[in-house]
Amino acid sequence: MQDYISNLEEWFLENRRILPWRKDKNPYHVWISEVMLQQTRIEAVISYYERFMKELPDIPSLANVSEDKLLKLWEGLGYYNRARNLKKAAFMIMEKYGGVFPTTYAEIIQLPGIGEYTASAISSICFGENQVTVDGNVMRVFTRFYNESSNISKDSTRVMIHDRLLSMMSFDPGCFNEGMMELGEVICIPNGMPKCDICPLKKGCLSYQNSNYYLFPVKDEKKEKEEVEMTVIIPIWEGKTLVRKRREVGLLHNLYEFPNVVGNKCVEEVRAISEEFGKVANIKKSICYTHVFTHKKWKMQAYFVFLESVNCQDMFYRISDVEEHFALPAAFSPFLYQLKEELK
Ligand code: SF4
Repeated sequence: MQDYISNLEEWFLENRRILPWRKDKNPYHVWISEVMLQQTRIEAVISYYERFMKELPDIPSLANVSEDKLLKLWEGLGYYNRARNLKKAAFMIMEKYGGVFPTTYAEIIQLPGIGEYTASAISSICFGENQVTVDGNVMRVFTRFYNESSNISKDSTRVMIHDRLLSMMSFDPGCFNEGMMELGEVICIPNGMPKCDICPLKKGCLSYQNSNYYLFPVKDEKKEKEEVEMTVIIPIWEGKTLVRKRREVGLLHNLYEFPNVVGNKCVEEVRAISEEFGKVANIKKSICYTHVFTHKKWKMQAYFVFLESVNCQDMFYRISDVEEHFALPAAFSPFLYQLKEELK
């Protein structure tokens, strides 16, 4: 691969996508974008990133933001602990480094929520340090190029790829790393045929020569996710609805939700549960939506519950207030959408 690295870097410099966090090599910008990109496609991240930067343009603003506002800015991205860790790390940068982002891999990796991959990305892209980023894109390019059949789900394979790439690192580690990742995202793609005809590595690539890209990378089969049936109750009273804060621990902690219970409840059970909120006038079945988390699925059947009087008026909010002030995770957002349609 070493013989083709200059091709890779030339290709990257000519073809790289124009992205907001690539306008400069500001470590704050690279850091936030890398954390967002760990869970979401680039196209979706752009609007989140721009909104985040408008509200929290620098390390002091992130260190001082309230958790509710931070989670609202992260709403829909999932993995909310990553957002909490951003704030913790910003706080540590203020305390330990006077608000200036640390410049070495050894310092960066000490920050909360920053692992090898992110520390390598920031230190190589922003400070030119000799570090390799190894993500799924990079492993796919590497294993196809060498017809390497080691299982990429194993740490030992990741370490082997890391060490081999480090041994062939160019004089511009940031360009090398970004080039490899970009190649995996847009040319040596995960689903469907790679675009070998326009790949800067094709002359040396064994998968190209042997027409066997589909054999690589080798990885573990995905485990079946546990499926949990749930019933979601959407109380409606005078054009308002009820959302509440989730518990302080566990999945989606401290975010907001529509009331819900485990199990697929019938209308009479929904009526009985809803009496906690007020006097039920009518119940209407809404959508069934399945939300997939890393390890489990929630299969949710929702009901609109129309109330003629309520036990606590303060718990009911207008839809526009819910949208503006409460961090409602993606698992519940389809129900908010349906509610808006219902109340039109
Ligand atoms: S030549 Fe094809 S298979 Fe080989 S690295 Fe490039 S895109 Fe991937």
